[in-house]
Amino acid sequence: MENIEEFGKRLENLLKYGNIRGPKRTIRVTSVSFCPLKAALTARYDVRFFGEKNKERILGQVLHMGLLGLIKDSWSYLQGDIEATPEIEKEVSYELGEGWLLTGRTDLVIGEHVFEFKFLSDWSYEKIPENLDEVDEESVLNAYTEQLNAYLNMLPGAKFGHLWIFRHNELIPWKKLEIKKDSRAFKEFLKRARGIIKLIESMENGELPKDPKPRFEWECKNCIFKSICSR
Ligand code: SF4
Repeated sequence: MENIEEFGKRLENLLKYGNIRGPKRTIRVTSVSFCPLKAALTARYDVRFFGEKNKERILGQVLHMGLLGLIKDSWSYLQGDIEATPEIEKEVSYELGEGWLLTGRTDLVIGEHVFEFKFLSDWSYEKIPENLDEVDEESVLNAYTEQLNAYLNMLPGAKFGHLWIFRHNELIPWKKLEIKKDSRAFKEFLKRARGIIKLIESMENGELPKDPKPRFEWECKNCIFKSICSR
């Protein structure tokens, strides 16, 4: 019966506040690394969009789920000498103040190690850099490393980040990039999250920014908010 009451409470919160936790409002880690206006509009209107333009994303999600399922089901074969139990899709959150939460879901946690798996479709294997010093400013890898760094800072006991990159059309080979925990970069990340909150609050007062700036130039091309955005 308790479970049913909890379910009822969660459903009510979802209907009233747009999330299961109640009056706290949430910004997702994955949105902070991209266009702040897109993040604000997505959080404000709780947009979930699946369409033709996102078929690569859907395929990525399916491969992603398959990989996590494989790790879970085959852990006894994969674990070798690792004693820690793998935690798959572990939820993390961080209080931003004034009822706002930064939330996210890591792909895999094994003890002090946090993993993010990304599937890229339009990159050749050679184009994926061997290390992060080779990444250019407009690369989506900058967003992925920031997100992983956020998880490292949000998760108590996490020390080492691993970004493993796969191509869509073959599960191997992958490139494995190591991410160092960087608390200064996380402070910048939090500043951006708070900037998104300000944007949401100004939208609630009926204002839309006149000159929005995406994080990456390529973001506007397939943005679902193009029709209402002044850019
Ligand atoms: S069109 Fe560009 S600037 Fe406008 S919300 Fe989308 S990504 Fe941001």
